[in-house]
Amino acid sequence: MKRRLAILGATGSVGGSTLDLVARDPDRFEVVALTAASNVDKLAAAARATGARRAVIADEALLGALEDALSGTDCKPEAGDAALEAAAADADLVMAAIVGTAGLAPVMAAIEAGRTVALANKESLVTAGALMTGAARRHGATILPVDSEHNAIFQCLAGQDCDRVSRLVLTASGGPFRTRSREEMARMSPAEAVAHPNWSMGAKISVDSATMMNKGLELIEAHHLFGLPSERIDILVHPQSVIHSLVEYVDGSMLAQLGPPDMRVPIAHALAWPERMESGCERLDLAAVSRLDFEQPDPERFPALRLAREALEAGGAAPARLNAANEVAVAAFLDGAIGFGDICAVVEKVLGQAPGPDDIASIEAVLEVDEASREAARVEVVTRAREKVGA
Ligand code: NDP
Repeated sequence: MKRRLAILGATGSVGGSTLDLVARDPDRFEVVALTAASNVDKLAAAARATGARRAVIADEALLGALEDALSGTDCKPEAGDAALEAAAADADLVMAAIVGTAGLAPVMAAIEAGRTVALANKESLVTAGALMTGAARRHGATILPVDSEHNAIFQCLAGQDCDRVSRLVLTASGGPFRTRSREEMARMSPAEAVAHPNWSMGAKISVDSATMMNKGLELIEAHHLFGLPSERIDILVHPQSVIHSLVEYVDGSMLAQLGPPDMRVPIAHALAWPERMESGCERLDLAAVSRLDFEQPDPERFPALRLAREALEAGGAAPARLNAANEVAVAAFLDGAIGFGDICAVVEKVLGQAPGPDDIASIEAVLEVDEASREAARVEVVTRAREKVGA
C-alpha cells in the first residue's frame, strides 16, 4: 500500500532531495501535501509533478497567486499556519523540512496526530526537544532522524535499547577552518566560511559548520532523540565525512554508518523505514578514500562546542537561547556587520544574561524565549558592529 506523504518545506534543499526520491519510486508514495513559505512557482511545479492533493503556502497574501498557478489541476491550494498544521496532521508520513522555528508548530501537529515524522528541522529538537519527545511518547508518534549524524546513530542502534550503549560519537568534518589558527579564523570572510569541504549546504548551516555550532546543535538533538546525557555523547573530528557517526556498546563494540556525503541517503532511509529504497547516490569507493582520519576537536578554537554543552546541561530555556542568538549572530556575520570570532561571543553573552524559565511547557513559551533572545543578540551585535567600525 502506498504511504500518504506530506513534505513540509518542499521547496527547500531537503524538500528537493525528498521530491527527487519520490520521483524515483512513485509507487511507494502518494503525495498528499506539499508546503512552502512564499515560493509559489516552485511549490506549484512540485504539486503538478507529484499530483499532490493539496499545496499550502504559509504567506496568506500569496493564496491568489497559488490558486492561479494550480488552475487546471486537482490540487487544493491553501494558505496560512492552520492549513500548514492540518497538512502535517493528515498524512501517514511527514517529512519535516521547514527551516527555523516556523517548523515547530507543524511538527508538533504531526506528533500530536500520532504520525511518523521524518525530522530534518533541527530547531524542533534543539529548542523544544523534551516537549517533542514527550508528546511523541504520549501520542504514539515515531520520530525518524534525517540529519545525517542522527540517522547514522539510528541505523547503528538497529532497534537496540540505549541501556546497552556506553556512548554515542558524533563525527564532524571540522569545517573549512579545521586547520586554521584562532587569529586566522577571526579574519575569515563569509565567502571563506561557507566554503564547506565536503557537503553542499545553505549559507547558515555552512557557517555553523565553520564555527562547529552545527555539531553543538546536533549534540542537543542527539540527547533528545536517544536519551543519553551530555557526558555520554562525544564529538570526534573526522575530516573525510565518510563515517557519519558511531555507537559504542557496553561490550566495547563500535558500530559505524558509512556513506557518501549526499543527504538523499539519510532521507531515503527515513522515507523507506523500516524497508530500504534506492537513493540514486554515488557509491562510496573506499579504496579511493583510502584512509580515515580522526582527531579531537580543539575547544579553544571552537568555543561553540562548550557553549552548546553548557546550554544542554543547563536545560530549560538555554538551548532555545543558544539557537536564537546563534541565528542572529550568523546572519550579522553573513551581512558583514560582525567578524567570525564575534559569532560565539554574541552567543556566550546572550547565554550569560537572564536565563529564562527552567521548564518550557509549550511551543508558545519556546517562541517567546526565541524572540527575547533574538532581541538580546541584536543589541550585542550592534555593540560589536560599532566596535568593528571603530577598530
Ligand atoms: P532551505 O532553506 O533550503 O528550505 C527551507 C524550506 O522551509 C523551504 O521550503 C521554505 O519555503 C520553507 N520555509 C521557510 N520559512 C518558512 C516559514 N516561515 N513557514 C513555512 N515554511 C517555511 O532549508 P534546508 O532544506 O536546508 O533545511 C531544512 C531543515 O533541515 C533545517 O532545519 C536544517 O537545519 C535541516 N537540515 C538540513 C540539511 C541540509 O543538508 N540542507 C542537513 C540536515 C538538516 P520557501 O522556499 O518558500 O522559502
